[in-house]
Amino acid sequence: MEIQVLPVETPKTPRSDESGLVFGKEFTNRMFVMTYDKGKGWHSPCIKPYGPFQLDPAALVLHYAQEIFEGLKAFRRPDGSIALFRPRDNFERFNRSAARMCMPELDVDFCLKALRQLLELEQEWVPHSAGTSLYIRPTMIATEPVLGVKPADQYLFYIILSPVAAYYKGGLNPVKIWVSDEYVRVAPGGTGEAKTGGNYASSLYASTLAAAKGYDQVLWLDGIERKYVEEVGSMNICFLYDGKIVTSPLKGTILNGITRRSILTLVKEMGYEIEERALTIDEILDGAESGRLVEAFGTGTAAVVSPVGQLTYRDRTVQLGNNQAGELTMKLYDTLTGIQYGRLPDAHNWVELL
Ligand SMILES: *Cc1c(COP(=O)(O)O)cnc(C)c1O
Repeated sequence: MEIQVLPVETPKTPRSDESGLVFGKEFTNRMFVMTYDKGKGWHSPCIKPYGPFQLDPAALVLHYAQEIFEGLKAFRRPDGSIALFRPRDNFERFNRSAARMCMPELDVDFCLKALRQLLELEQEWVPHSAGTSLYIRPTMIATEPVLGVKPADQYLFYIILSPVAAYYKGGLNPVKIWVSDEYVRVAPGGTGEAKTGGNYASSLYASTLAAAKGYDQVLWLDGIERKYVEEVGSMNICFLYDGKIVTSPLKGTILNGITRRSILTLVKEMGYEIEERALTIDEILDGAESGRLVEAFGTGTAAVVSPVGQLTYRDRTVQLGNNQAGELTMKLYDTLTGIQYGRLPDAHNWVELL
């Protein structure tokens, strides 16, 4: 398929003061858009000026949330080149999310080609300051205008780009976590493994309660016993427990994170034993008090790693790491960002240059 490229009539220029960047508020001049019709497949791929869509008020996505998305980043390297981190993994996961939500899959190679072409045109938008990046948001929505509950016959796939600030301004700040024992993110058999909007909409209530109590993030427990740890905010979670790396298993209720996968590879090479099992909240609270639990951190594209400094479950609060990021957390942050920004060798071929 040939990608049509439409001109931008009144291009904006990227802000010169990159310190003023806010996550996900500014977008570049162009977006990639492609349409799907049942019987015809994906067609009319186009790179065009960034702007609003025409959407019928009855579009299925607006009523029944048939929607999926991805999140990845383009990094500016010291030599001026632009790097992507495991982008194929994102589009493969996008297809798994699509299958779960009864949406049409995409050709991964074509998506990568379209993304590259979009980035070529928008490369001046990849910021230069330390720790900044261009956040990439591929999205698919059900556009068919009909109020019956069913998988749509029409979809829109698009990619938008947003220059983002460094996640950490001065060092990795540990976060305060509130353990949700009443509200759950997902249940077994649900859509926890799909990056689909509904999972995030249903997480807002607990996050809002946590924020009102002064916490930064919610720790999600399993949907049945509310005992086993699953994720933190919209990140996977890892623990350094009894000298081993313990992280929740991929059993359909957590997102299969690319950062999680990369971190597990790195810690294995550092000589750590890995246990993919769900810790119980009691193991965590007792472990923090006894010293068996040394570090806990979230993993995800936005933050890379996010150290947990404090955890509150019901009326019990425990501290971790004296309000400082742990040694391993720091090392993993430096290693992964080092690979992404080209400061360290890329032994696993995770990086793809533009
Ligand atoms: C996106 C996401 C993650 C992290 O995935 P990465 O590929 O590492 O960015 C973890 N949990 C949830 C719920 C997510 O949406």
